[in-house]
Amino acid sequence: MLEIQCTQCKAFIARYRGSGELVWLYLDRVVKPASLAKLKSAANKADLPILICHECGRRIGTPAVREEGRLAYRMSKGSFKRKGVVKAMTTSPHTSWK
Ligand SMILES: [Zn+2]
Repeated sequence: MLEIQCTQCKAFIARYRGSGELVWLYLDRVVKPASLAKLKSAANKADLPILICHECGRRIGTPAVREEGRLAYRMSKGSFKRKGVVKAMTTSPHTSWK
């Protein structure tokens, strides 16, 4: 799970089910916010707004269609930061013992 933040103003952009480099943001993997996650049911790319930071207006991603018509955003490098989100309860302290 990743959390995506605006580089410029640190505003929360999205929570995303994925890991590693983020080149494409697939809408069907967006967990939060609901306003973004629900766009996965948009009929086509033309219905998608450009992904911008709601705080400072910086452009974060542009709409795209990937294989099998999957809707996604092409993330613009440097406009966002991502960090891993570790869910509470996923790790037990004992599993790290060697
Ligand atoms: Zn911002």
